[in-house]
Amino acid sequence: MRVDVFTIFPELLEHYCEGSLLGRARRQGLLDLRVHDLRAGAGDPRRSVDDTPFGGGAGMVLGVAPIFAAVEAVEPPRPLYLLGPGGRRLDQHLVEELLATGDSPAGGFSLLCGRYEGVDQRVADHLVDGELSVGDYVLGGGELPALVVIEAVARLVPGVMGNDASALDESFSSGLLEYPQYTRPAVFRGWAVPEVLLSGDHGRIARWRRATALRRTLEARPDLVEAAGGLGDDDRRLLEEGSDEPSPSPGAGSP
Ligand code: SAM
Repeated sequence: MRVDVFTIFPELLEHYCEGSLLGRARRQGLLDLRVHDLRAGAGDPRRSVDDTPFGGGAGMVLGVAPIFAAVEAVEPPRPLYLLGPGGRRLDQHLVEELLATGDSPAGGFSLLCGRYEGVDQRVADHLVDGELSVGDYVLGGGELPALVVIEAVARLVPGVMGNDASALDESFSSGLLEYPQYTRPAVFRGWAVPEVLLSGDHGRIARWRRATALRRTLEARPDLVEAAGGLGDDDRRLLEEGSDEPSPSPGAGSP
């Protein structure tokens, strides 16, 4: 899986990668992450990449020429996404789409980090393949969003996580939030772990996990169940059977 990132702060990305599973994935050859300094595309000795906005206004804008030069010097894998609050919002479906770009031999994707007031519009119009947002809020730069995207994708690359099965089980992978997790001790301050998890009965445990995942999702994120087309007959029956978990609170809304 190759991922190229363009930024004026390459050290921010390198530093995070070093201390996280991304660094290990890189060392194991599972993730070919290449971080490029946009200043390499600057045409002056001061390596300037920004300028004041035409028409006036506060702040600086990353210029079109250094960005084109930096990207064209590398010819990174496409799609190339500009990070920005107005882009397509990241979710697990998009993460899986990005993962699938790695299927072909020259596969992967690339990210371009903005800064300051943003990026000259001609970059969005003529260089990138799309824009990608990590949510409806504004950050100071595209570096944190880039790391969010890369980590979400990299942990689905086979071998990157210690146990690949854990990624399959997690929130959103099946359209539901994950079931509750517990570890030792079995009782803490009088709060006991649900008895079923200590039973050793894997069938019962699987049914309990599915039922609690359904209840939890209906309560906290009914939109996810709705988006998946509502509850199927098996899930309805499972919920009617009851479990160790309380039912969703009234008004939580089920589709
Ligand atoms: N002036 C821009 C606006 O109002 O939309 C915001 C610019 S922001 C301060 C600087 C850079 O941070 C953006 O160009 C983008 O690369 C990145 N950024 C900020 N918020 C983001 C978000 N929610 N998702 C992705 N990137 C974001």
